[in-house]
Amino acid sequence: MPIAKSQPHGVSRKSFPTKETGPSNPQLRRRLRAWYRRNARDLPWRRTADPYAIWISEIMLQQTTVAAVIPYYQRFLAKFPDIQSLAAADQQQVLRLWEGLGYYRRARQLHTAAQVIASQHGGEFPSEFDKILTLPGIGRYTAGAIASFAYDQRQPIVEANTARLYARLLALKLPLTSSAAQEALWGLAQAIVPARKPGEFNQALIELGATICTPRDPQCEQCPLIADCQAHRRGWQNKIPVPAKKPVIEDVTETAVAICANGRWLLIQRAADERWAGMWDFPRVKTPSHEQQQGNVLVADSQSHRAADIRTELHQRLGVTVRSLDEFVTIRHTVTRFRITLNCLQAEARLRQVAHPARWFDLPEMVDLPLTTPARRIAKKLA
Ligand code: SF4
Repeated sequence: MPIAKSQPHGVSRKSFPTKETGPSNPQLRRRLRAWYRRNARDLPWRRTADPYAIWISEIMLQQTTVAAVIPYYQRFLAKFPDIQSLAAADQQQVLRLWEGLGYYRRARQLHTAAQVIASQHGGEFPSEFDKILTLPGIGRYTAGAIASFAYDQRQPIVEANTARLYARLLALKLPLTSSAAQEALWGLAQAIVPARKPGEFNQALIELGATICTPRDPQCEQCPLIADCQAHRRGWQNKIPVPAKKPVIEDVTETAVAICANGRWLLIQRAADERWAGMWDFPRVKTPSHEQQQGNVLVADSQSHRAADIRTELHQRLGVTVRSLDEFVTIRHTVTRFRITLNCLQAEARLRQVAHPARWFDLPEMVDLPLTTPARRIAKKLA
């Protein structure tokens, strides 16, 4: 049964699915449920109805694949099995467990939200959708996911997998982030979710999007919703979703210095308004514009102007006087839309007291410290 009448560029409000022709028809729901029961992957967060565990999984799964999340999820719950233990934790422990997952703001907000639940909700994860939505780091999708998966409430969900699935069901030829598309996707999500076992049904929608209605070459012949799919009917399944405009990648060159004194290394804690806030990093120094353009390693000749500039900067900023200054390692990594070449130098200094946010650490201490991604790689090289 069709979801909606044909439209040249996808749905309009007029053609939006009705009860008779649309996604609330019982056959569609029956087929999807039957398919899910046969094909659902056994994922750790699907074995529980604990809102805390479901919340952790949902935050980790934002912008991260299922395969990458599983070991982090298991380690996180082993260390912080409930809201109380997470609320009482030091933020540094939380960041350390999150290290490598990226988007560290998620971890800081998770920690803050646990403290809010402990102080304002008596330590019980709230069950009302509106209250869940007020927690730091929780948006409309995550609140709906927790409410439906943990409490079996009839709440719609739209995330990457379901957005693609809905867009194809509707033959929606609009960028998915546009407000018209968002309205259509949330409208379908609201219409399709049933009153009976809505949590399982929402999981089924995600599963179908993740495993059958995949971004490239969806396996339509195995899809339980093939008869309901406008995109398949028109042969548009590989044209929808309309590709998003790719962000322009910018090449950036940065310089770090691994400074050693008596076997201890100087690290700086990143400020709250910086990338990797709260995590520790090797000191950065200014990179001259000609090195940024060339993107190659600078010359650390002790006689060069560059070396002298670095010494002066380190002395003025950190009060540290470095003796030797040598090239050590070049690390390439990507953060959001930046492709970064990090030239790391190595320097010797006399051990002296430094002020926050700088501190000396030996290498074993760094094992439990939350380090930025490049700092962890430098530390491994030093070890
Ligand atoms: S028929 Fe194909 S394009 Fe349509 S929902 Fe199923 S897998 Fe996706």
